[in-house]
Amino acid sequence: MAATTSPESYAPSTCPVDLFFDLDLALTTEEKPASGNPSPDSYVSGMPWDLSAAGICTVCMEEFGAGRGAKRMPCCHVYHDTCISTWLVIDRSCPLCRLPITF
Ligand SMILES: [Zn+2]
Ligand SMILES: [Zn+2]
Repeated sequence: MAATTSPESYAPSTCPVDLFFDLDLALTTEEKPASGNPSPDSYVSGMPWDLSAAGICTVCMEEFGAGRGAKRMPCCHVYHDTCISTWLVIDRSCPLCRLPITF
């Protein structure tokens, strides 16, 4: 068996194309942030509505009007959409149970 020279061993391991790919990826990532939208409004708009909310909103201490509904937090506490939106600007946690809200 004679030693055969593989054509692959001839090619250099450093490929300049990799460099271009990295640059392209970096530029693309910079242009559109993956999930960097720190807006309480957009978070509140994604919260589920609780149309049968009863009792009072502990932010404004007013009753939930019939038919108006309320926004339900992940901890199941409910608030007026405007109230919790304003609250989250100041404090990113549930006013009642202090559950941390990340957005
Ligand atoms: Zn309220
Ligand atoms: Zn809560």
